[in-house]
Amino acid sequence: MNTTDELSQALSCIREDVRQTQAYPVQSGAGLVKLDVMENPYRLPEALQQQLGERLGRVALNRYPAEGTQQLAAALARHASLPPEGYALTLGNGSDELISLLSLAVARPGAVIMSPLPSFVMYGISAQYQHLRFVGVPLRPDFELDEAAMLDAIATERPALLYLSHPNNPTGNLWDEAVIERLIEAAPGLVVLDEAYQPFAERDGLGLMQRHPKVLVMRTMSKFGLAGVRIGYLMGRRELVDQVEKLRPPFNVSVLNAEAALFALEHEAVYAEQAAALRAERERLHAALQQLRGVQVFPSQGNMLLVRVPDAAAVFAGLKARGVLIKNVSGLHPLLRQCLRITIGMPVENQALLSALQATLIDLNL
Ligand code: PMP
Repeated sequence: MNTTDELSQALSCIREDVRQTQAYPVQSGAGLVKLDVMENPYRLPEALQQQLGERLGRVALNRYPAEGTQQLAAALARHASLPPEGYALTLGNGSDELISLLSLAVARPGAVIMSPLPSFVMYGISAQYQHLRFVGVPLRPDFELDEAAMLDAIATERPALLYLSHPNNPTGNLWDEAVIERLIEAAPGLVVLDEAYQPFAERDGLGLMQRHPKVLVMRTMSKFGLAGVRIGYLMGRRELVDQVEKLRPPFNVSVLNAEAALFALEHEAVYAEQAAALRAERERLHAALQQLRGVQVFPSQGNMLLVRVPDAAAVFAGLKARGVLIKNVSGLHPLLRQCLRITIGMPVENQALLSALQATLIDLNL
């Protein structure tokens, strides 16, 4: 068999739907003010970065992860004030991995995964990869939950797993707690509150988790300031978390990642200050964007702002040409028509965004 035939025979063994899918797009931010994927723009202060380097230098790389990850799970449980009795926490290589494990946990023929839309795209992608049906229920045009439509969909589809992004990505808003609680009460299966943006929000879902045993709370250290370190965690009733724990690849969190995350938690005050600075910047940027003619800006409890402009593609390109990278989310869902998502950066970066946006709008005559 020649090489081409051998390769196409091998390729034909890969699932058709996987071959038809595009890989998750990652934009290059090289040389640009990078405000596209909700990273924390602040690094650790230099002295702490040095100390971290020394700590990482002492990690035994010849051993599989064991104690370090257990210590990290315990430190995260303390950090999140997880009640010690009856609850457990499991770690993922980012919360993306936990989303895959949750799909795997409910993957039986006919099972449904549901979320409002637009929301985080991985819920649908990971359902597809497990041959599960994903049902997305449109939000209202103001991006609030459509309670009646959600209750209706829950009653007819009986989802094994309902995701509520809390606050929601990409819209940035935090849905009404009473509505969320009514959806939880109606849901027949698991409900995951995805709290990736919890450091920037005015409330969290731990109370809902304690009132409703079916609720799991998922968080990540990515938006906290460790996007490169890849640590996500899932908390909830021990009986449920233990099932996901069985599906977790045994050594999914590297010793270096665990050590860096532990170090960060020992200095959580530094990160808390950074989050407070970003929340203040979010409010400042929100007010400044509201002043721009033609720009509609939506309320946000995350480290991002969703805006609607007259021509999202042209504004995105104009910003990029002026050295600022954001995310054009217009194509993700009809409700997001002409919408762009801006991650909150440092004051100087936000200023660069504002100037570039003003210049772009003038240039485009918008
Ligand atoms: N959940 C939400 C709502 C997100 O927006 C993201 C990342 N943008 C994630 C989960 C995944 O985060 P990570 O894998 O970095 O933990």
